[in-house]
Amino acid sequence: MDRRTFLSLGAISSLFVKDAFALKNNIYVPIDSLSIPKNTTFRNDIYISKERWQIFVNVRDRLRKVKKYVGYGNFNIISFDNALFYGRNYSAIGAFTKAELALLDELFYEDPAKYQFYGDRTIANISSKISKKEVRKIPCTGHYLFKGKPFDDYNQVKKDIGKSIILTSGVRGVAKQMSLYMDKIYRLNGNITQASFSIAPPAYTYHAISDFDVGKKGFGYDNFTDRFAKTKEFKELTKLTYISMRYEINNKDGVGYEPWHVKVI
Ligand SMILES: [Zn+2]
Repeated sequence: MDRRTFLSLGAISSLFVKDAFALKNNIYVPIDSLSIPKNTTFRNDIYISKERWQIFVNVRDRLRKVKKYVGYGNFNIISFDNALFYGRNYSAIGAFTKAELALLDELFYEDPAKYQFYGDRTIANISSKISKKEVRKIPCTGHYLFKGKPFDDYNQVKKDIGKSIILTSGVRGVAKQMSLYMDKIYRLNGNITQASFSIAPPAYTYHAISDFDVGKKGFGYDNFTDRFAKTKEFKELTKLTYISMRYEINNKDGVGYEPWHVKVI
């Protein structure tokens, strides 16, 4: 069976349908119509359990408050321990609870193969830090790149393709990737299997060690869709030999096609 096969609700077991509906009936969860057709679910997919849903919602919210407090740019590179510090010290955020920390720990250290994600682990420890000395801020983007090849490659890409290509995401620490991962799970009504098809689990992102995303200036959200692959900028990108594409169609990692994600080689 193809991984994450789309199925109509009518085609799956009644037990599963009951669980999917219980989740929606207890708590208001918006449907992300861009990513998942209404009344659609996936065979064998793993969800955040009903019992932990409220903990999940609370801790996702707390991470968003940390982002608001430190600012969008800084949130890309702060450590997980920094996030906990801000929670403890600022009442507008509030300390992370034991149950919240247990959930975050699990999401970080568990083996995502059970979600049909087969990429390599890139961060060993949840407390891993990114030093400001290792990175350079990229003006007007709110993002950072690692010094050395990632930074040099990006500048060469700008030279080769021109001003219309821009950095849309660079360095991401544990807090940032965790937050993105939880946002995706939330928009998919708790479906972790489906979320990990379009965003790497927190310990598995190459944004933590080298890679970055690019887009076409002014293209907005379309930069993170297949539509980017139709742009002149993308065609120019594929001609460059000093970089590569991390997630091609049908990649071994079990990740969706990401024409915008540059693999630093
Ligand atoms: Zn990316």
